[in-house]
Amino acid sequence: MTPSPPQTTLDRPVEDAIGLAPAPDGPGEHQPPGEHDLLERIATGTVTLLPALALGLVGWQLWDRALHWQDLLIFALLYIPTGLGITVGYHRLFTHRSFKTTPALRAAFAIMGSAALEGPVIEWVANHRKHHAFSDQDGDPHSPHVGHAGGWRGALGGLAHAHLGWLFRSDFASQERYAPDLIRDPVVHFVDKTFLLWTALGLALPFGLGVALTQTIAGGLTGLLWGGAVRIFVLHHVTFSINSLCHFFGRRDFATGDESRNLTWLAPLSFGEAWHNNHHAFPTSAAHGLRRWQFDPSALVISGLERAGLAWDVVRISPERQRSKLVAPA
Ligand SMILES: [Zn+2]
Ligand SMILES: [Zn+2]
Repeated sequence: MTPSPPQTTLDRPVEDAIGLAPAPDGPGEHQPPGEHDLLERIATGTVTLLPALALGLVGWQLWDRALHWQDLLIFALLYIPTGLGITVGYHRLFTHRSFKTTPALRAAFAIMGSAALEGPVIEWVANHRKHHAFSDQDGDPHSPHVGHAGGWRGALGGLAHAHLGWLFRSDFASQERYAPDLIRDPVVHFVDKTFLLWTALGLALPFGLGVALTQTIAGGLTGLLWGGAVRIFVLHHVTFSINSLCHFFGRRDFATGDESRNLTWLAPLSFGEAWHNNHHAFPTSAAHGLRRWQFDPSALVISGLERAGLAWDVVRISPERQRSKLVAPA
């Protein structure tokens, strides 16, 4: 008979931080880190960091030829608003109704999110609400855990499906069933129906900025490359990683009944969306980073809007409610 595995202490620091007494020792809810843990971490590091390093290498090689300082500026000027269009707009405002705001800002967030090229807002919201309704069960549009065999082949197949594969399937969530509120909203409905216009704007802007900053067509074209194509590519894969990596790797602080995880290193690039276990525990919370150190730029934007009088009814989760959902250590 094999000895029982050692108790995992992964979740303990959060309990300590809020003063919850540790429970008696016993088998934990999660599989303790085993021999595959290190291999999995090496694999995640390789598949996620290597492409980013490669992109940096390409940028270095192309410096002053197809990449200039103004291209980096244009990248940031497009990445930040389109990224926030997805996280603050598509996700926290439209999907989960974490706060209320003016019709003009609803339109602005829907337009900025559309320019990220992740699909029209109502389709995005319907799929994401269905993800929460069936999280990691049959019916979840993009779980890495459903319908895949065990072992590393099943894990890789599940991750590929959750990351990108699901987008090629035809069983998207019903918009009538999952987003009737947005179909009835004239502002959101209009931006949804004019999606292509906003995607074109998201490409015309970096081209125009490149031309304006360099007074050349070539500057417009490199602006389009970095502020258009590369920006869309990076933001796509950051968003897709929330669906794949954040249901596979990282810490689980809250008992959510699914496999959602907090993936610290992805938080800055994803504007705070990588606190995904927190988010599944409290889907309507305007903040996904629930601890002081959990960097969540989207929550900062919502707080800023609130202070300016442009956001109200901001949903916050009390410490008691947070405590009640902490992963039970026994
Ligand atoms: Zn999720
Ligand atoms: Zn969500």
